[in-house]
This record gives sequence, C-alpha cells and structure tokens, in this order.
Amino acid sequence: AGNVAMDAARTALRMGAENVYIVYRRTKAEMPARREEIEHAEEEGVQFAMLAAPLRFNGDAEMRLQSVTLQKMELGEPDASGRRRPVPVEGETYDLPTDLAIVALGTRSNPILLDATPDLEQNKWGYIQTNEETGETSIPNVFAGGDIVTGAATVILAMGAGRKAGQEIVKRLLA
Ligand SMILES: Cc1cc2nc3c(=O)[nH]c(=O)nc-3n(C[C@H](O)[C@H](O)[C@H](O)COP(=O)(O)OP(=O)(O)OC[C@H]3O[C@@H](n4cnc5c(N)ncnc54)[C@H](O)[C@@H]3O)c2cc1C
Repeated sequence: AGNVAMDAARTALRMGAENVYIVYRRTKAEMPARREEIEHAEEEGVQFAMLAAPLRFNGDAEMRLQSVTLQKMELGEPDASGRRRPVPVEGETYDLPTDLAIVALGTRSNPILLDATPDLEQNKWGYIQTNEETGETSIPNVFAGGDIVTGAATVILAMGAGRKAGQEIVKRLLA
C-alpha cells in the first residue's frame, strides 16, 4: 500500500485489467502511500483487500497463477513505526481469484554489478558508496548516482546526482 503499489495498480487498470485489488495487511489509516495517491486509486476503480496478508500463490498444472491465499489480519498494539501491528486471525484464510500478481514490497539493489566489482565500496545497506561532493565511487573516475546510491528515492534526486557527476567529469576532462 505504498506509492509504488498505487502506481502499479492504476497502471494495470489502464492496461485493461478487469479487477485490480491492492492487498494490505493493515487498514487505510496505516497505508504509507500519500493520501492523494490512495484517493486517486479509489477514484480510478482500484479495490482494496484490507487486513489481509498474502500467504501463498496458487497455480494450475502449467504454473499459471489462479489465486492468492490471504490470511485475515487484525490490528494489535503499535510497533516501532508507531503503526498498529497486524496480527493473523487464527485459522481465517481465503482465496482471492487472481491471474496476475504484482509484488510491490520495497526494493533492494541488483547484486550483479556489486558482486562482479569487488573494488566498488558499498555502504551498510548494500548500495554504492560515493563521495557526496562529486559522486565518485571508490574506483577512481567511476561515478554513481540515483537509487543505487541512495536506495529507493526519486527521479529528481537521480537526475541531480547525474548532473553533479557530469559536472565533475567535465571539470576533470578540461583540467
Ligand atoms: C512503480 C514506481 C513508481 C515510481 N514513481 C515515481 C514518481 O512518481 N516520482 C518519482 O520521482 N520517482 C518515482 N519512482 C522512483 C524512481 O523511478 C527512481 O527513483 C528513479 O527511477 C531512479 O533512477 P535511477 O537512474 O537511479 O535508476 P533506474 O531508473 O532504476 O535506472 C537504472 C537502470 O540501470 C539498468 N541496469 C541495472 N543493472 C544494470 C547492469 N548491470 N548493466 C546495465 N544496466 C543496468 C536498469 O535496467 C535501469 O534501466 C517510482 C518507482 C517505481 C518502481
């Protein structure tokens, strides 16, 4: 129920899906997406299956998705984030017929580049460590910016990092 979920659900509707559900283990009050994103998703016809946590994807003999088994949840005490913790309701599950599931549960860096380049210093979250002033990585004259440095962020921040690195590269070429 974050902004990416709202975006993916609305895009699925516009691409012709008949019914689109956002499955969320808490309620609307705890949704992390911006209010206007949630309202726009509702206006556009996205449906919400709230207090439900996906347990299992069920396929047919050819491994095509048929349904998602959902665990009914209820809200307990607040957790470290201040939001009420979702707690499974014992024995209460149901199947939601589904032929396509989009998983919008956060992002991590693609490990291929970092695994293949051991000299590239990483920070404790597994993103590329750069010089904040220049965007240069631990490998001289190699620059990085955007989500691979900051973790999931925004287009504007990624563009800014690109400009900063570009300016530094030009400066060095002209030096
Ligand atoms: C569904 C969704 C909705 C979003 N909505 C918004 C929004 O409304 N506004 C906003 O500001 N931000 C939004 N974001 C975040 C935004 O998309 C990112 O912050 C931004 O795209 C980061 O740009 P980037 O250039 O760092 O990375 P990316 O845009 O992810 O580009 C990285 C590129 O590198 C390529 N790549 C990866 N590994 C390799 C490799 N080994 N070799 C070669 N190429 C490789 C990838 O294929 C990709 O094309 C959204 C994100 C998602 C997922």
